Amino acid sequence: MTLASIKNELHKARQCGYAVPLFDVFDQHGVDGIFEAQELERSPVIIGIYSGAPVMQNIDAFSAYIRARAERTCYPVAIMLDHGTSVDQCLYALESGFTDVMYDGSSLTFEENVRNTRRVVEAAHACGAAVEAELGHVGSGSNYGAFGGQRLGFTNPDLVAEFIDQTGVDFLAIAFGNAHGVYKSEPEIDLSLVSDIYGRVVIPLVMHGGSGLHDDLYRNIVNTGISKINFFTAIHNIVVERMIEAASSGKASMFFIAEQIRLGYRDTCSHFFKVISSSGRV
Ligand SMILES: [Zn+2]
Repeated sequence: MTLASIKNELHKARQCGYAVPLFDVFDQHGVDGIFEAQELERSPVIIGIYSGAPVMQNIDAFSAYIRARAERTCYPVAIMLDHGTSVDQCLYALESGFTDVMYDGSSLTFEENVRNTRRVVEAAHACGAAVEAELGHVGSGSNYGAFGGQRLGFTNPDLVAEFIDQTGVDFLAIAFGNAHGVYKSEPEIDLSLVSDIYGRVVIPLVMHGGSGLHDDLYRNIVNTGISKINFFTAIHNIVVERMIEAASSGKASMFFIAEQIRLGYRDTCSHFFKVISSSGRV
């Protein structure tokens, strides 16, 4: 299939009570692993490119590779900028063939976040792309103790409708005790906040920091109203483990190590497709 915006798929997911995964990736081997997992699980998928990744320097060429791979599958594939840092970077991603972008103004004031997100939305909608924004701020698991228990950065449900109204954004990432990276203390996930926000909006809600939680908790989060989950750290940890094993196995070679990247992505992504119930949805 041709690459296309994930918007319709996320609305389907919201209606039917499952979530679509975004997997962050940095190279061809990871991309190949994601496509293999998708073939096995028959699910829509979002390939995420983190705004700070080195591959952003050659993003037109990399997105052309993803586009060519997507044309060989019969399942929906989108390519999305993850944590776009500026309006210009989002525009650059759209020019480079991305189907969707996330603009992250979560560290700005509400007004600045609205202003910048609206500019990205105007540009994206003009070329058929969809936009994700973040309200509240999803922190890092490495200092989770400093904000998780104190609810710092948690999304204020009273601001959500106004934000969506003023920006026209298509999907919204919210902060409810989730965190990027590895949780350094026990996660305190506020499902009642997710449920509250879900009831106030009609657009798909997004969870960042989809690594390190128990599978049952992911299921509860999805059942409560999250329609897209971003995964990276869990994949990264498995891939690195396998690369180290391969390097010390006595048969280390670039071919063997590259294969571990592909297989690590394939196995971890297959697992998450199942956990968040997107397997078999197409
Ligand atoms: Zn994120």
